Amino acid sequence: MTINQIVRNTVERLKAEGKVWTPDAYTETFCSEAKKAGFSVEDCSGIDRYLNSMDKKTLEEVKQYRVRTTAELIRFLISRLARMNPSEASILVESLSNLAKKMAESIDVLHNPDASALAKKTLALLEERGGPTQIELLKQAWINFLGIYDDSFLMKLSHFGSVDTSNLRSTIESLKLQGTAVAEADYSKIIQLIVSSLVPSISPKMDDATMVLSQKLHENPAYINTEACEKELKTAIAMRIALDKQSVEEMVSVLDALLEKLSSQLIELIERSENSSSEIREVKRDLEALENNKPTDFKTAHKRLYTIASTLEEKVAVLSQDLKAHNEKVTDMGKKIAALESELAVATQASREDFLTKLFNKRAIEEYLNLKEAEYERHAHSFCIAMLDLDHFKSVNDTYGHEAGDAVLIAFAKILKLEARTSDIVGRFGGEEFLAILGDTDLAGAKVFCEKVRAHVEQAHFMYQGQRIAVSVSIGVAEREGYPSLKALINGADERLYDAKRKGRNRVEPA
Ligand code: GH3
Ligand code: MG
Ligand code: MG
Repeated sequence: MTINQIVRNTVERLKAEGKVWTPDAYTETFCSEAKKAGFSVEDCSGIDRYLNSMDKKTLEEVKQYRVRTTAELIRFLISRLARMNPSEASILVESLSNLAKKMAESIDVLHNPDASALAKKTLALLEERGGPTQIELLKQAWINFLGIYDDSFLMKLSHFGSVDTSNLRSTIESLKLQGTAVAEADYSKIIQLIVSSLVPSISPKMDDATMVLSQKLHENPAYINTEACEKELKTAIAMRIALDKQSVEEMVSVLDALLEKLSSQLIELIERSENSSSEIREVKRDLEALENNKPTDFKTAHKRLYTIASTLEEKVAVLSQDLKAHNEKVTDMGKKIAALESELAVATQASREDFLTKLFNKRAIEEYLNLKEAEYERHAHSFCIAMLDLDHFKSVNDTYGHEAGDAVLIAFAKILKLEARTSDIVGRFGGEEFLAILGDTDLAGAKVFCEKVRAHVEQAHFMYQGQRIAVSVSIGVAEREGYPSLKALINGADERLYDAKRKGRNRVEPA
């Protein structure tokens, strides 16, 4: 089919359909006929031929506006062109940018370092007209700032009154009005100052009223705001001054008395020296003469004063010499006393110590027994005693000699001391007999101690001149509670010791 045939078909159809022959109606019908005939005419592809050359963004918009005909497309493009008036757009951008600048400048002077820093960055960006990426980054930074901004600290002020977070100025003004804007910590500092200034600086005394007020202020610093406090403060300050004044007066009167005493002593000293007293009389006369406007020889007065001074100097020298001599004597005597005291201590020690074993002697042991007895009677503090006697000691002496016997006694004393507690008292009661006083223990505990001593002695190697001497000990033990008197207790322990000997020695009784 040719284009002419399509034109004919179009005219036929327009006639048949009775349409008005407008260019649009003709085009629409012609294109429909061309399509039917499978004929492609460029003019018939409608707006598509324009759309193909459009950028994606505009194409989207065209679709959104449902543009279908060329006429609609032209209208759409015209309106878009009107919108994109370049001079208007740049004016708008310029004024928005100025507004942003002003906002950033305002934020910069606010008292928030983070906001200020961000505002500065914004200003810099506006200045250099940064691109979209930079603007996006900055926008994100502002979003972050809002995310972490924290003004909850404002709420801490709330106990001073209501806080209007949207209007800080009004909040602060109302705080001032209430007079509570001073933080508690500041009060405490002031209170410390006030309290320390209330304490008298000279007088050692402290008035009760001042103390009470100090206490009150310490406990409740806000009390300073009250009228009652003002009154109390006035009283305390007056009291503080009065106390100090009184102290000064007392000190002055003491000083006066001291001076008086000193001057009378001085006069006495001077008068004791005939020479100087006569000199003083002369000086006095000269001074009187001076008062009476009589001619005076100052040289003579000076000479006399000098004489008095020299006399005084000599006197003082003699006095200090005396003092020194006395001091030496006192020091000497002190030394002698110290020596005597240490001698006495040695003697006292000796009188209580066994010369051979260095344990307590019988006298000391008896003293301690009496002490323990007194304690028992007063506080019912019971105690035990152990009577220890070396077995067949006579034969030790006989076999190895008396010196060997002495060495054994010394060694045995050491074992006894080692096994005893520091609070126990161990001593030699006589010959080869020993006694231990065991406090804070009952009979069972005392028996444990005795058994330890017995076993230790049995196993010990008593050596004398290369020979081992076999030694054993028998022990009788008794607790105070079980006896009517101290004497009965000692006898009791002795009887138990006798039991131990009788039952074969090297044992503790009661077992
Ligand atoms: P028993 O087992 O029954 O106690 O026998 P014993 O030999 O130990 O008892 P006895 O009372 O018969 O003898 C005690 C001896 O202890 C007599 C004395 O020679 C000796 N003796 C006493 N005091 C001392 C001393 O200070 N040094 C020495 N070397 N021996 C002493
Ligand atoms: Mg014996
Ligand atoms: Mg004996």
